[in-house]
Amino acid sequence: MSQLLEQLVVMKFGGTSVEDAVAINRTAGIVAGRRDKGLTPVVVVSAMSKVTDQLLAAAAAAARADRTGALAITARLRNRHLETAAALVADETMAELGAWIDAEFTSLDEVLRGLAAVGELTLRISDMIVSVGERLSSKIIAHAFAFRGLDAVHVDSRTCIITDNQHGKAIPLDAQIEARLKEHVLPHALAGRICVMGGFIGSTEAGVTTTLGRGGSDFTGALVGGGIDAGAIEIWTDVNGIMTTDPRICPNALRVKTISFEEAAELAYFGAKVLHPATILPAVKKNIPVLVLNSRNPENEGTRIISLAPHCESPFKSIAVKRRLTIIDVVASRMLMSHGYLKAIFEVFDKHKCPVDMVSTSEVSVSLTVDSNEKLPEIAADLSALADVKYEGQKALICMVGENIRGQNGIAARVFQAVRHVNVRMISQGASEINMSFMVEESEAEEAIRSLHNEFFANPDPEIFDIEALKESVR
Ligand code: ADP
Ligand code: ASP
Ligand code: MG
Repeated sequence: MSQLLEQLVVMKFGGTSVEDAVAINRTAGIVAGRRDKGLTPVVVVSAMSKVTDQLLAAAAAAARADRTGALAITARLRNRHLETAAALVADETMAELGAWIDAEFTSLDEVLRGLAAVGELTLRISDMIVSVGERLSSKIIAHAFAFRGLDAVHVDSRTCIITDNQHGKAIPLDAQIEARLKEHVLPHALAGRICVMGGFIGSTEAGVTTTLGRGGSDFTGALVGGGIDAGAIEIWTDVNGIMTTDPRICPNALRVKTISFEEAAELAYFGAKVLHPATILPAVKKNIPVLVLNSRNPENEGTRIISLAPHCESPFKSIAVKRRLTIIDVVASRMLMSHGYLKAIFEVFDKHKCPVDMVSTSEVSVSLTVDSNEKLPEIAADLSALADVKYEGQKALICMVGENIRGQNGIAARVFQAVRHVNVRMISQGASEINMSFMVEESEAEEAIRSLHNEFFANPDPEIFDIEALKESVR
């Protein structure tokens, strides 16, 4: 049994890896490759690329009574899904699949019409609408795999990923998930069948559809991997792995070959979109290796996330950026740090369920950063009962992550020398001592990252970073 579990590999494919029939066929090829190696894949897929955004746009249009606008979006989505399915499944099962897709869109349109009439979009309804993306993609992909001769079976994730009822960002219930996976997934997998499940979606114990938050399919991948004790979790995306920074910002970013769970979690939390922040935990708990791989370049080794990273000569592994932040300054004329003062400030954030990213204090002021959000005026009003309050948006947090910051001298000096032309606000080094972060104007963030990248990745440690790409660009 334990050997069979070792052979289980959870393969999560993101939106770009299933964006159209060509990408889905490529995905089928990658899955078949794993099966041919004697592994048993359990596949978790995102919605086809941009579908989640479009479903949210349709919901928003309906909520402002723009029924025509909402239905125009779903008409385009219906065609895209029907065309993709028809390009992938060329046997008699297509009639049944096509009818199912049509029926899904017909009931989605009904919900949107109702929403346009009522005009109130709750998170519960939003989850119901947005879940359609993964429900469709997973079903189509299961059919496509079967058509290509893979022994594939579709499993509705809502039967397994049980969550609380915090719609929009529901919390998974580990014990229930494990039990459900044992019932609905393991028996198929142990019989050698390839389960295909939608990421991102779940349901409450009462059967109401929920979602795990944007980018949540990675999280599903890790929950499934943790729940079935898989031998590995693979996150297939559109870049070669975790890179030294977002390659869209720095085209000469390098692939990081190995990184620790802790470093990867820190990067994800601070905005490296390549992994959902909650992804690592279920894998850490069971010490399951996580790999980040490129579905457009499947031969590449990708990034291996393991519990203890090997020694690295460079202080940092990667630079992340979190955008759309607001700094809130709370300034009192009298002694701020008096007993209970910080508690009173944090109670305001707690009341509005607004997480705080970073805090810095001086004798009379406390500065905090939060994701820019529509509750800020109310939060500021509540805080103004305690002191003077100012808030300023369009800030970005740059976060440099690496286990080797510990104990190295002169790193901060190099960081701030590299960004000397940028106005730096709020500097922090987390207690974990594996990140160093600071706030800048959002408009200056990319330039600052490029300067930092030049400073810290000019002579990369070849044990940790893929320097082949660097050699090629020099050639
Ligand atoms: P998926 O649809 O596969 O989930 P995402 O778009 O969520 O893919 O994440 C992949 C993207 O993350 C990449 O295309 C890249 O632009 C971005 N990204 C941000 N930071 C990093 C980083 N440090 N390493 C690699 N990719 C990153
Ligand atoms: N489709 C969801 C999103 O776009 C979840 C995911 O792709 O991870 O946020
Ligand atoms: Mg993602």
